[in-house]
Amino acid sequence: MKILVCISHVPDTTSKIQFTSDGKSLDTTGIQFVINPYDEFALTRALWFKEKEGGSVTVVNVGKANTEPTLRKALAIGADDAIRIDAEPTDGFAVASELISLIATEKYDLVIMGRESIDYNGTQVPGMVAALLDWPFVNACVGMEVEGGVATCIREIDGGKETVKASLPMIVAGQKGLVEEKDLRIPNMRGIMTARTKPLKVIPSISNEVATEAIKFERPAGKQACKMVSSDDVKALVDLLHNEAKAI
Ligand SMILES: Cc1cc2nc3c(=O)[nH]c(=O)nc-3n(C[C@H](O)[C@H](O)[C@H](O)COP(=O)(O)OP(=O)(O)OC[C@H]3O[C@@H](n4cnc5c(N)ncnc54)[C@H](O)[C@@H]3O)c2cc1C
Repeated sequence: MKILVCISHVPDTTSKIQFTSDGKSLDTTGIQFVINPYDEFALTRALWFKEKEGGSVTVVNVGKANTEPTLRKALAIGADDAIRIDAEPTDGFAVASELISLIATEKYDLVIMGRESIDYNGTQVPGMVAALLDWPFVNACVGMEVEGGVATCIREIDGGKETVKASLPMIVAGQKGLVEEKDLRIPNMRGIMTARTKPLKVIPSISNEVATEAIKFERPAGKQACKMVSSDDVKALVDLLHNEAKAI
């Protein structure tokens, strides 16, 4: 199976997020970037498919040169080769428009993405790519097997799970459950060394299709100081909940 795993390059979950002074973009100063956690589940599942039945696993990122260390990490984990589409990923539609040309040209059997990127949390790219290619799409996928060109996928739905079938080629947006956290692979020394010589191809942007423009980012309001109420003063508690917190 020829598999493509789409890798989003995101701030480490422990990063303190700041915005530039005009409030229009993320201030990346001092931020450590990592593989989007949902994409790590996707990559590990892709490697399992390859180890079981052969084939290849390519990783792709739509981004500038600063994302290459993230792609090299995916190579160290076990991907065969990497592609960087040289474009600023300014919104979900821009990313999807860049990906579809590669996917159609290279004729992948299976494209696995994460359910969402943990930076902008758009949850847009997988559905857009599937719609633009007119391919089957399974979102929030927590389990997947492929036999004879047909995928059986389990996806999370409100209060339960749904099992669906689709013929390859298809797009899957995965999350924990595709594999478990304990199955994620930490690159070992050999992987890091071989990743340096694995191919990382840079291809030019084919589209400038941007559908949205960020006007402003705002941080959530800070938490208010804690107010202590005497345990025998129910009236004061009710008054605070009603008039200040507006909770009752
Ligand atoms: C300089 C810069 C400016 C940006 N400005 C904005 C902005 O103004 N507004 C905004 O919303 N976002 C902005 N972004 C973020 C960028 O738009 C997102 O990477 C892109 O929109 C996809 O985000 P999403 O949250 O919709 O992805 P989702 O749909 O949540 O991602 C789901 C999956 O799609 C795949 N995917 C997502 N992004 C990529 C990618 N780049 N390459 C390969 N696979 C990918 C991954 O598998 C991911 O798990 C900016 C990024 C940069 C570097």
